[in-house]
Amino acid sequence: EIRLDNVVKTFDTFRAVHGVSLTVQSGELIALLGPSGSGKTTILRMVAGLEYADGGHIYFGDQDATDIPVRDRGVGFVFQHYALFPHMTVGENIGFGMSVSKVKRSKAEIVARVNQLLKLVRLEGLGDRFPAQISGGQRQRVALARALSVDPKVLLLDEPFGALDANVRHDLRRWLREIHDELGITTIFVTHDQEEALDLADRVVILKDGKIVQQGTPQEVCRDPKNAFVLKFLGDAN
Ligand code: ATP
Repeated sequence: EIRLDNVVKTFDTFRAVHGVSLTVQSGELIALLGPSGSGKTTILRMVAGLEYADGGHIYFGDQDATDIPVRDRGVGFVFQHYALFPHMTVGENIGFGMSVSKVKRSKAEIVARVNQLLKLVRLEGLGDRFPAQISGGQRQRVALARALSVDPKVLLLDEPFGALDANVRHDLRRWLREIHDELGITTIFVTHDQEEALDLADRVVILKDGKIVQQGTPQEVCRDPKNAFVLKFLGDAN
């Protein structure tokens, strides 16, 4: 379980996150949903340890995150701009995290694990291609396989399908849900796309100006939007 307790983040004088409290249960897939600038990415970066909260606490289980070095948090991260290494093959990209991990693995172990991950993300046979030789959607699957390669306890996805066209996004959404259900990994998914959040997540957390406006299952927030902002924001999806 991951728990945010009254988390605050200020950049110079600008308060990007205003006292956010949130619990993500183990194995849950939650979506942080909100318009541009609502603080979604900043929250994700604080959970990952790429950014420090300047108020409140983040807990991983019963441990305060500030006591856990970033590389020991067991977090896998996928960004919108997948940033695969262009000079490495798909297989090498996926294996990279394992080759620099403090868990030492032999070459053969890495190859076996890469093949297993290629199968998981349904890219068998493409391990020898370079990123430029596969589609955008396939690259995003590679990025996810790479994030999963080090057996993260938590998966953080920042608009992972944002750069792709609607059909591909739709397919990847289904596929992410399947992978999530297969692995049962705790996942926090950031999006500004209402339809994506409602379709994919167990629970949706709606943000505005660095604050949580409402959270609940997709059915709950659709059935009972808390205010005009939520109503309009969700309404835009229909
Ligand atoms: P988007 O969908 O556009 O990425 P977001 O909801 O993820 O938006 P954040 O990226 O978390 O929003 O940004 C929240 C606010 O904090 C924005 O107004 C942004 O300009 C500001 N901000 C984020 N990072 C920094 C930074 N390093 N320095 C200054 N301001 C920042």
